[in-house]
Amino acid sequence: MATDLRLPTDRIVRPDKDRFLNEENPFEAMMSRFDRAAELLDLEPGIYKILRHPEKQLTVSIPVMHDNGEVEVYTGYRVLYNTSRGPAKGGIRFDMNVTLEEVKALAAWMTWKCAVVNIPFGGAKGGVICDPLKMSVAELERLTRRYTAGIMSLLGPDSDVPAPDVNTNERVMAWVMDTYSMRMGHTVTAVVTGKPIEMGGSLGRREATGRGCMIVTKEALTHLGMPIKGTTVAVQGFGNVGSIAADLMQKEGMTIVAVGDRTGGVHNTNGIDVPDAAAWVKSHGTLEGYPRGDAISNDELLTLDVEVLVPAALENVITTKNADKIRARVICEGANGPTTAAADAVLDEKGIFVIPDILANAGGVTVSYFEWVQDRGGYFWSEASVNERLTDIMKRSFHDVLKLAQQHKVNLRTAAYMLSISRVSTVHKLRGIYA
Ligand code: NAD
Repeated sequence: MATDLRLPTDRIVRPDKDRFLNEENPFEAMMSRFDRAAELLDLEPGIYKILRHPEKQLTVSIPVMHDNGEVEVYTGYRVLYNTSRGPAKGGIRFDMNVTLEEVKALAAWMTWKCAVVNIPFGGAKGGVICDPLKMSVAELERLTRRYTAGIMSLLGPDSDVPAPDVNTNERVMAWVMDTYSMRMGHTVTAVVTGKPIEMGGSLGRREATGRGCMIVTKEALTHLGMPIKGTTVAVQGFGNVGSIAADLMQKEGMTIVAVGDRTGGVHNTNGIDVPDAAAWVKSHGTLEGYPRGDAISNDELLTLDVEVLVPAALENVITTKNADKIRARVICEGANGPTTAAADAVLDEKGIFVIPDILANAGGVTVSYFEWVQDRGGYFWSEASVNERLTDIMKRSFHDVLKLAQQHKVNLRTAAYMLSISRVSTVHKLRGIYA
């Protein structure tokens, strides 16, 4: 299949920055969970201090010549949160709402996510404050190349390996890889993941996050003694993660009763034909007007009477304002940070089994790791082999986290943080402090 190099026309639409205050400040949300896990682990004070600080934060000014001849200067960030376990790994997002606080939180999340699935990476994130949909392809290319030049001192297959994130894609990764390679004087495919297949990308990468969601949801249902066939599912977000998770869950026999995107949701108690809805989105741009179901709002979708809810769009959609209305038995967090830290307690009280983001959506970074391994080895695997290895890692990670949760009588989120923090802190202890 030829690589689709277009930037998505549909995208994450994030409400204004005020949403990130207090309950919804992403760095605070991450840190409150980190603190709880650190306390339960009785983390050494020195390690605790180290892990509360990002290793490196770089802010760069990015002058870009626009097509009309005018120069605009954009601001970009790259944060390497922790690299004790290996090269930093994390996406680059282009979005008007990018802030350094958010990039720091996402870089920390990546650190814990890589450690939960036990792949040899640390965590990073990058972002540029811009509106890519208002820029031409040539302007985006100049922005990407100049941003790459600005963060060149951090990048490298052994030090920092970016990937796509909100509003960046395979094409943007190709520009990053090319810019880095030109500066090095030779082709370095392993400097980014999420690349086009034709230039060292991995088969199965595009489906990996949704596939990982499906795998851990099946494990959760089995653990809870619930059937897989006929289990009802609502999915918020019908992009890469949501549409693929819905499709693969349907193929496993689950009934997808609702899907939604930024235009709202569609509900059909008899089940939505996911490939048919995906074909509608392909030709119409969004789910709006999809005829085979009833239109519902995004708020209604989240509180439907279903067995499984998959928030796979954006952060902070489950808050103290709506958590008590959620009726799902299982939540599989396809998105990063869909639940605020304050809402965790409400979900716990209701007995909802939450598969936390750092576990649920780790399929993407796991196959990114496979891509990096394949690039470095110069030997490429079949899609079946990628999927088989992904399944092994997701299942093993789910059960590692579940076991710890049972041992400590905590929810899966706290257990996932405990597992990852203990893995990162063990390496810090073994390595000691360089002085
Ligand atoms: P995407 O851009 O492909 O799709 C986003 C979907 O969310 C679209 O259907 C869009 O219409 C919908 N959406 C946007 N704003 C919305 C709103 N206000 N309410 C409801 N729906 C809305 O993005 P994606 O790659 O699927 O990523 C989704 C989430 O998963 C993000 O939080 C991302 O960070 C996370 N994630 C993605 C990957 C990956 O590999 N793609 C990996 C890990 C985590």
